[in-house]
Amino acid sequence: MTCPFCTLPGERVIAESSLALALRDGYPVSPGHTLVIPRRHVASWFDATAEERAAILALLDEVRAALDRELTPAPAGSTRRTAGSRADR
Ligand SMILES: [Zn+2]
Repeated sequence: MTCPFCTLPGERVIAESSLALALRDGYPVSPGHTLVIPRRHVASWFDATAEERAAILALLDEVRAALDRELTPAPAGSTRRTAGSRADR
């Protein structure tokens, strides 16, 4: 059986480190549904090393901050740049 994460197109990866990577789920159950996984194949969290767990948690914080910026509506009357243009024109 082929591992789906080993054949991911690079554009699916939204954050990465030497031990872990984050990608948007191909079948999101909610906006921003993101997977944070170790680079090494492990069966579960409990098979990951302490370093891999730390790398996963660091990416989790990074991705959460990015999702907050991306998905939190700007307060009324404020401006927010989206994809290089003003979103409130
Ligand atoms: Zn794999």
